[in-house]
Amino acid sequence: MSATQPARKPRGRQFFANPGPTNIPDSVLLAGAHQTVDFNDPNFIEVYTACIDGLKRVLKTTQNIFLYTGSGHAAWEACLVNLLSPGDTVLIVESGYFSESWAKMAGDLGLEVQTVAADWRRGADPAAVQAALAADRDHRVKAVCVVHNETATGMTLPVQEIRAAIDAAGHPALLLADTISSLGSLDFRMDEWGVDASVGGSQKGLMLHTGMSFNGVSAKAMEAHKASRLPKHYFNWTNMLARPHKSFVGTVPVSFFYALQESLRLIEQEEGLENVFARHHRLAGAVRAAVQHWSGNNGPQLFCLNPARYSDSVTAILMPEGFNADDLRGVALKRFNVSLGGGLGPLGGKVFRIGHLGDLNEPMILGTLSTVELAMRVAGVPHAPGGVDAAIAALAE
Ligand code: PLP
Repeated sequence: MSATQPARKPRGRQFFANPGPTNIPDSVLLAGAHQTVDFNDPNFIEVYTACIDGLKRVLKTTQNIFLYTGSGHAAWEACLVNLLSPGDTVLIVESGYFSESWAKMAGDLGLEVQTVAADWRRGADPAAVQAALAADRDHRVKAVCVVHNETATGMTLPVQEIRAAIDAAGHPALLLADTISSLGSLDFRMDEWGVDASVGGSQKGLMLHTGMSFNGVSAKAMEAHKASRLPKHYFNWTNMLARPHKSFVGTVPVSFFYALQESLRLIEQEEGLENVFARHHRLAGAVRAAVQHWSGNNGPQLFCLNPARYSDSVTAILMPEGFNADDLRGVALKRFNVSLGGGLGPLGGKVFRIGHLGDLNEPMILGTLSTVELAMRVAGVPHAPGGVDAAIAALAE
């Protein structure tokens, strides 16, 4: 391009293939463009109540739910400060960048952190959780924290096996599960799996803007809350229960609820929750088929090494030695207007991520995969050409 030529502006929609925030369906965008109403208005309360009921159905819980104006970090913090006291120990089930970040938050809040260490390509073993808890004879561990779907590594952890490990150790610790990149994309069953506090956010499977998060809270956790002594105000569940909405300290973000009402309608009525999970599984299979094909010629490969833990909402892809993932992402974005997720923490430059969650269909996945293959060709990244054909074959099955 000559110095006098203007920079080329891409036409058409940007393909947004990050693993969250995700694409927002047009009808959800429109529903959220609602004029302000009084959050105590009976018409709004009706919408609000229906949304809370719907969120509980998606979490598969009949227990309590508390909401915050804040991203997923807010709900992480809220469940720690509402359940624990200074010096309590939390047991972090290591899976990757997000389990590490939750651990760091716990430490910053004055909690002792013990980690069930794991290789990020495999994630922790439930047997190691059981062993750690069996060794904790004084019951210093008050909560076990697990990230259901580790967005940084593309790995889904077996929450029900972690529950079984806690029970097998005969340990009273609470089970806290982060569902930020699983809820509304992968099956999550809060009550059936014995989760005491779940952490969810608006911007991934629920297909909303970023900025609202929540905790599902079991009856056992509500008892623990009464004894907790970590400082809290905005996040205090007791304060919330005294308010008319039984949630939110302060102004209720009304527009989120008009958008959530529509997103719940799409998830539950138009598609059906179980069909949403099946679609994510199908699209994820196509992405994995493409990556496994590309790996043939010393090309990029799946970061997750445990097929039983492959995530159906995000795939992390490890670059071949000597090739930088961010250079490839730069080609995809600047030349072809496709936004891919980057590697987080120590995986920066080594890994790129394709989000396949939320409002997504086959042509969108194939468009993204074609562009990744195109970008690899342009950037000279070794790979076995034909990954997109492998994805097509997987989808046609
Ligand atoms: N947990 C997981 C699994 C995530 O993927 C994220 C963000 O992507 C978070 C927690 C943090 O959420 P937020 O960025 O909304 O604060």
